[in-house]
Amino acid sequence: MSYLGLDIGGTTLAAAVATDGVEPVATATVPTPQGTEKQTATERLRGLVEQVCEAAGLKPTAITAAGVGSVGPLDQKQGAVTSPANVSDETVPVVEVLRDLLGTDAVVLHNDATCGAIAERRAASAENLVYLTLSTGIGAGIVADDKVVLGEDGNAGEVGHLTVDPAGTLPCGCGGEGHWEAYCGGANLPRYARHLHETESVETRLSLGGSTFTAGDIFAAASEDDLAALVLERVGYWNTVGVAALVQTVAPACVAVGGAIARNNPDAVLEPVRERLPEQTFLDAPEIRLATCEEPVLTGALVAARRLVE
Ligand SMILES: [Zn+2]
Repeated sequence: MSYLGLDIGGTTLAAAVATDGVEPVATATVPTPQGTEKQTATERLRGLVEQVCEAAGLKPTAITAAGVGSVGPLDQKQGAVTSPANVSDETVPVVEVLRDLLGTDAVVLHNDATCGAIAERRAASAENLVYLTLSTGIGAGIVADDKVVLGEDGNAGEVGHLTVDPAGTLPCGCGGEGHWEAYCGGANLPRYARHLHETESVETRLSLGGSTFTAGDIFAAASEDDLAALVLERVGYWNTVGVAALVQTVAPACVAVGGAIARNNPDAVLEPVRERLPEQTFLDAPEIRLATCEEPVLTGALVAARRLVE
């Protein structure tokens, strides 16, 4: 049996084929087409699937089942990703595309963080856990009582749009105000630094106006720059507010954190949450740790594919 996993992200489309277990025998990635590009994400996905199958020495029709983890929002009944941020297409009918290409109905679509939770559950003994991704955006996958929580249309866990700041100081890409992702999503950290610089008059040597100024610059400067330190202190606070809401709702044994922001800066991101969480939760604070899996979305997608036919 052969399985296909897909990860539809805002910047990268990734694919993997596994034949035994969930260790890929072939992987491939392409950039996600952005708004102005001619080729659509749907067209590029078709090419990516053909490419990864060829690398695995298989025809697409030899794939037994496929799993997809995608940025949201999803319409699971249609098997589509609808109005995804940063992706060129209004709708990506990913399930239909894969059914046509692979010649099988065994295709499942999940939110990307849900795939992360599926992968993490496989690696951990906890029957209640949260997989939290701190990346360009923020999302969570939830396992409660050993069941993966899908939610209506597969959209459970869009926690990046939890209101952490009731004052609604910063607007979110979704149109809301005061959302977790508006402060702590990697794409928004430079804007948050500029906001704090304007409102708190803290000295800085960061080139806030530069087009190349990124979240990575803030983490790199944290030990020597007052503004960078202030940004990370506030980020630690908002991250704790968000994690506390998850802990009180799910009562997980652990929160496994993935995504580039956490992976690249594990101490700076996780330690403030560990320190502050006991003050903010009524329940005992769970273990807060880095996710085990390096490719949680692809791994979870492959696990979900296998489960369709096991
Ligand atoms: Zn939002």
